[in-house]
Amino acid sequence: MYAGGRLLLMQLQVLLVAGTHGNEINGIWLFEQCEKSPFLINTHGIKTIKVIGNPEAKKAGTRYIDNDLNRSFLAESFSSMNSSNLEGVRANQLVRLYGNQGENPCQIVLDFHTTTASMGSCLVVYGRREADLALASLIQNRLGLPIYLHETDKKQTGFLVESWPCGLVIEIGPIGQGLLNSKIISQTKLILENFLEQIQQVKNLNLLFPEKLIIHRHIKSIDFPRDEEGHIDGYVHSLRQSKDWQPLKKNDELFYKLNGETIRFEEDESFIPVFINEAAYMEKNIAMSFTKRELWKFKPEWKQSLIDLIN
Ligand SMILES: [Zn+2]
Repeated sequence: MYAGGRLLLMQLQVLLVAGTHGNEINGIWLFEQCEKSPFLINTHGIKTIKVIGNPEAKKAGTRYIDNDLNRSFLAESFSSMNSSNLEGVRANQLVRLYGNQGENPCQIVLDFHTTTASMGSCLVVYGRREADLALASLIQNRLGLPIYLHETDKKQTGFLVESWPCGLVIEIGPIGQGLLNSKIISQTKLILENFLEQIQQVKNLNLLFPEKLIIHRHIKSIDFPRDEEGHIDGYVHSLRQSKDWQPLKKNDELFYKLNGETIRFEEDESFIPVFINEAAYMEKNIAMSFTKRELWKFKPEWKQSLIDLIN
């Protein structure tokens, strides 16, 4: 299309975000190294824009300043431009600059996080958008990463990736907040390069989608045990600590109290726990989340949705 003599082509751009939480610093560090050595990451010819999600929180060494940025991408805060908190303003700014309709439009976003839970690396998909499921399938097929499908949790909304037509969160752990770790950095680089390689393959219509994908579907989150005043009076049981992704059966140990009481898993069906004792979720009253492991058949319309977005 020509406009004013200028050739306008909608070029695919992928937004890469690290430091949406200011104390998750491995991705931030990797991006900073890329500034010094632009060829550090093999982008497979895909145009990318790298941003630090919450630079103010990064400076302060905290997860956020006023509110969790990754719960601030809400329609109501976008409608009022005089948002009174730093993260509301930043969420607006990111969408204005890099949203699909933004000044420098990106169609896909990859949001790199770290977790203190012993989850290894996984992908988080929010809801059941077709392009997200297609892209997650490609990465699971390539790297074998688990997919955590986050949905139907009305208390947890306003995630960054939901403001782009396609977007996934990458969680890598375990790592303490504010620490650099060689394994986490190399995992971040590996996963990022594989994403860009797969996106390039979709662009070239050189597609290898799997027939099935394994989904860990969010069921619910549970709180720590608390006394009458609401103070935490028990901790994650030693047999449950660091046992993310390992199925729970009835009567398995969940929490231990110093009075000797063990709190057990009482559901009849088996759930798979994730984000066990994640440091950042204590303030959200989440000790761990339960998921159900499901085998889903890959749908052709997912593939078409991703192809339409990329080409
Ligand atoms: Zn995070």
